[in-house]
Amino acid sequence: MIPFRNEPFTDFSVKENRKAFEAALDKVRSELGKEYDLIIGGKHIKTDQKVNSINPSNTKEVVGIVSEADEKLAEQAMQTAVDAFSWWKHVDPAARASVLFKAAAILRRKKHEFSAWMVMEAGKSWPEADGDTAEAIDFMEFYGREMLRLSERQPVTPLIGEQNELRYLPIGVGAIIPPWNFPLAITVGMTTSAIVAGNTVVLKPATPTNVIAYQFVKILEEAGLPAGVVNYVPGPGPVVGEYFVKHPMTRFISFTGSREVGLRINEQAAKTAPGQKWIKRVVAEMGGKDSIVVDEDADLDLAADAIVKSAFGFAGQKCSACSRAIVHKNVYDEVLAKVTEKTKSLKLGEADDVSIDLGPVVDDKAYNKILEYIEIGKKEGRLVAGGEKGDESGYFIQPTVFADVDPKARISQEEIFGPVLAFIKADSFDEALEIANNTEFGLTGAVICRDRLKLERARKEFHVGNLYFNRKCTGALVGVHPFGGFNMSGTDSKAGGRDYLLLFLQAQSVSEAL
Ligand code: NDP
Repeated sequence: MIPFRNEPFTDFSVKENRKAFEAALDKVRSELGKEYDLIIGGKHIKTDQKVNSINPSNTKEVVGIVSEADEKLAEQAMQTAVDAFSWWKHVDPAARASVLFKAAAILRRKKHEFSAWMVMEAGKSWPEADGDTAEAIDFMEFYGREMLRLSERQPVTPLIGEQNELRYLPIGVGAIIPPWNFPLAITVGMTTSAIVAGNTVVLKPATPTNVIAYQFVKILEEAGLPAGVVNYVPGPGPVVGEYFVKHPMTRFISFTGSREVGLRINEQAAKTAPGQKWIKRVVAEMGGKDSIVVDEDADLDLAADAIVKSAFGFAGQKCSACSRAIVHKNVYDEVLAKVTEKTKSLKLGEADDVSIDLGPVVDDKAYNKILEYIEIGKKEGRLVAGGEKGDESGYFIQPTVFADVDPKARISQEEIFGPVLAFIKADSFDEALEIANNTEFGLTGAVICRDRLKLERARKEFHVGNLYFNRKCTGALVGVHPFGGFNMSGTDSKAGGRDYLLLFLQAQSVSEAL
């Protein structure tokens, strides 16, 4: 087996690559507006309750029309997953891993097509969509290998007179509830980690990106995954998602999304339903309020570049996005000027245009929420860039920077999840670190600084799950930067790391007297 390596990103400065991506966009455009069914036990099911998936760059364009489940169909999906678990758990781990390797190979061949779906359905720019697809491929390659490793004989201390072993077993049916912001990578990572470990799942995709999740389920089918192991059950989160969370046969919930929903799921899952025989496991990866700290001796161009890329990539809709720049007072004005200039030069536009820097935000809910925060920001800070809507044919919001924000202000404390950045002045490096730790979140952070001793202090004191030095705070790579946050950012599951699959396994120790 070739050792794991990350899927390379596409270089869009190469003409052939641009042409290939244009062709993929044309193919996807020709398929817009189709209907998508539920898939339960391999059977396609249409329902009367339908939801339109909309192109956020052009809200008049319907990407797909998706059948939604109700509680009755959710129950059917759950029973199907329960039945499938009875035999899927016995399938050789190597065979389960082979499904992932095959699916990764198919996805690699259809890479641009999948990225093009994300351009149209999630409003991702070409490079952001390409990165999302690459990460999805990585997850399957990585978790397949991880399952091979974990299915080997595990080390235990030898004892004379006994033969001992420890082996990992799957745990049961999982509810997979992903967000829309990495509609392929996170959906793929959460689903395939669970099934390669021998579990079966009900997948309730995020409503804004139902279509891309459907395309992925079709790839699993093409890769030979037996019917019933993954059941595609779109529907409203509070109805279908919650039904799965509360169900007595649900063994685990793998959730990525907002703090509010994650905490609700955690609470619901803690209640034991009649007939339930286990404590449900909850893996919940939630929001962030991520900071980049800039020290007085830092490379200021590097700092400005890292801040702008981390704040406005995918219009700030990453859990890892920088939403606070905490800058030493001696270089504050200079860094602010550089960031403001760079921000004003960013091109906002339709996601299918290769020349844009950022596209729209995902839907009307996000759009209205972000615009409300911009109004709050106008009272809490000094507007130095953006602050307005863009073209109203889509959900466009200008990249926005507020200066002189108080560390306790709402725009410094609450997750906005859009292209809005707060600049905060710190009197010293000590104070900057203190501010960086002053939210309830703890997902990512970066320090731009040349002083080794200060970096070492940050290593100990900056309390986040993913900490970066002298680079941006987004762009975690599978296997390289296992990802997950502290405090209200979640359960620190470290997706893409060597501990991750254990969340969906249980260890059995077997001892025989000789
Ligand atoms: P939401 O919490 O709104 O939704 C996440 C998922 O939960 C969706 O599938 C949603 O379905 C579903 N859901 C909603 N309500 C319920 C409920 N009552 N019971 C069960 N499921 C429910 O998050 P977003 O999709 O808006 O994603 C953005 C959030 O995700 C941000 O906070 C971001 O920081 C976080 N995130 C965290 C990451 C991490 O690794 N820490 C990575 C990526 C994102 P529906 O769409 O139908 O409402």
